Amino acid sequence: MDIMLASLSLDLDNQWAYMKTSGDAGWESYPSYLDVCVPRILKFLKERDLPITFFVVGKDADLEKNHNSILQISEAGYEIANHSFMHEPWLHLYSKDELGEEFRKTEDAIEKITGKITKGFRGPGFSLSPAVLEVLVERTYEYDCTTLPTYIAPLARAFFFFKSPNVSKEEREKLKKLFGKFSDGFQSLKPYTWEVDGNELTEIPVTTLPIFKTPIHASYVVYLSTFSKFAARNYWKTALKMCKIMSVQPSFLLHPLDFLNGEDVPDLKFFPSMNLKLDEKLEFVGEMLDIYSKEFEIVDMQTHARSAAQENLETRKYAESFA
Ligand SMILES: [Zn+2]
Repeated sequence: MDIMLASLSLDLDNQWAYMKTSGDAGWESYPSYLDVCVPRILKFLKERDLPITFFVVGKDADLEKNHNSILQISEAGYEIANHSFMHEPWLHLYSKDELGEEFRKTEDAIEKITGKITKGFRGPGFSLSPAVLEVLVERTYEYDCTTLPTYIAPLARAFFFFKSPNVSKEEREKLKKLFGKFSDGFQSLKPYTWEVDGNELTEIPVTTLPIFKTPIHASYVVYLSTFSKFAARNYWKTALKMCKIMSVQPSFLLHPLDFLNGEDVPDLKFFPSMNLKLDEKLEFVGEMLDIYSKEFEIVDMQTHARSAAQENLETRKYAESFA
């Protein structure tokens, strides 16, 4: 049997984006940890010879202080995709005009540094709307990978508000759909095609545990490892085994915080698993990736999307999916 395809991506969420969503003061100066984490991540990927897609936030590409980090990613040969301009998890509330502007600014900032045109998108906080899909099609994107099929979104959101007491009432209203809704759990884990006004766009969902639909992205499994490494490792192995049995090509998601600890970023030291020793964290993430690449053929998101588009994918009418 051929080895199954699996994809790898990293959402390059910066320090200010976490502070902003949590309602912490000081985000307005756009504090950045890219100088610290990008070289570390690139070294990690190179050591393991892993392909990956970086979802870059437009505002970071726009800020001079981050240019070098973004350029390093591009020069290492990795795909760069669009993770919105301002990383607002209420992107689904934007009008179409606002979205057009948001996309244009992100694309311009990334192209200016790297010369690359973005062809893939992931919304911040897994937020998606019919208008986002329309804009993606109009701007000739090949794929979206925003959806997170999970039942635990309401639980994750409650946990987020519990951990973020500084979020104002107004922001709370906007974050009503953060991480999605319970019924998102009924969505398929397999890629499908959005049919948007006669055009097609490939959707690659972020993989969750088959059947149970609990998250399996690195931050979540690393968090489990702070309670029991043994349990976390088994959870990860079980997830990959279930993907194989159910013919789900997994798409695995990383974040900068998987490569940082509280000493690197004191402002975020109370975030989940930021108390782990750096060596320990990197070793565990490394172990996860080693298992992943032993079991699957790892590709970036564009390669995954193009391969999926060759298959006979289920088609979804986009407007009805959000009713
Ligand atoms: Zn993000």
